[in-house]
Amino acid sequence: MQSRIAPILIRWYERHGRRLPWRETRDPYRIWLSEVILQQTRVQQGWSYYEQFTTHYPTIQSLAAASEDEVLKLWQGLGYYSRARNLHAAARQVVEHFDGRFPDTYEAIRSLRGVGDYTAAAIASMAYDLPHAVVDGNVYRVLARLFDIETPIDSTEGRKGFATLAEELLDKAHPATYNQAIMDFGAVQCTPQHPDCTACPLADCCLAHSAGTVLQRPIKQGHTKVRDRYFNYLHLTDGHATLLHRRTAGDIWQGLYEFPLIETPSEVDFITLSRTEAFTQLLGGQPFQLTASQRMPQHLLSHQRLHATFHRVQVEALPHHSDLIAIPTERLDDYAVSRLTDRYLAHE
Ligand code: SF4
Repeated sequence: MQSRIAPILIRWYERHGRRLPWRETRDPYRIWLSEVILQQTRVQQGWSYYEQFTTHYPTIQSLAAASEDEVLKLWQGLGYYSRARNLHAAARQVVEHFDGRFPDTYEAIRSLRGVGDYTAAAIASMAYDLPHAVVDGNVYRVLARLFDIETPIDSTEGRKGFATLAEELLDKAHPATYNQAIMDFGAVQCTPQHPDCTACPLADCCLAHSAGTVLQRPIKQGHTKVRDRYFNYLHLTDGHATLLHRRTAGDIWQGLYEFPLIETPSEVDFITLSRTEAFTQLLGGQPFQLTASQRMPQHLLSHQRLHATFHRVQVEALPHHSDLIAIPTERLDDYAVSRLTDRYLAHE
């Protein structure tokens, strides 16, 4: 059965594969950009980000020469900003340690910041035709169904087992085409909720299809603990300017800008907030007037559930603090902010 799978997938891909700009190139830099962007979003939205990045930074040298703020701003809306910071750091690594030429071995590619097994295999195979199998969410699903595998994909045993199986199935003479074929097959034919089994060229050898377990594959053990956090943002204004804070390392959204934040252990109303020491310290005891409050819908991150409220507060004069910058209100758009703050500003 195993030897039949690759030729069938490649034939399927030749007829049904999607035509995407990053498929038309062998440039490792562009392939890498597309892979990092697509880990964050769907193809349709990813496409416009890919075009923006390749227009702003046509070469890895131009990306390396950009400031982190510019890169984060261009990334805005994709979330998971550590990926953008890693992208930028890896571009600088290539310029500094590889003479500006994208590395051409799996190990060297894997040594770049933020590049894991999946991305390294994708670049190595698609740019250099090196025989490395990709294992992304689509591949997990297709393999779990074809072989009716019950081992959870998020267990150590599962990760190892699926990686070995993927390498065994790889068409080593055509790794680029095979990898794209199996990922596209998962995205288009063997989809999570509505796989098209009736028109599937692999139906007669698909074990989950014959066992009737298709929608139960793949299995995940899950159990990720989610932490609740309560964010109270103060959108302070003196009528002309506002204050921003740049988030530092060790927490979410490193390097992004936001309004001064007071985090509380539970949800609080504005009166309670205004009596906290943090609030008094921030405003320096001066009079203030609350002009609006906006409670945001719960904002989910991978391990955190954020409950956020933005309070717009009018003051006579903006207070001075070394970790806050005052900017003219109309320049807010120039700063990279989290998706949460972006949503607030869109409705403000
Ligand atoms: S038969 Fe259904 S579950 Fe099996 S590979 Fe084809 S589409 Fe996926």
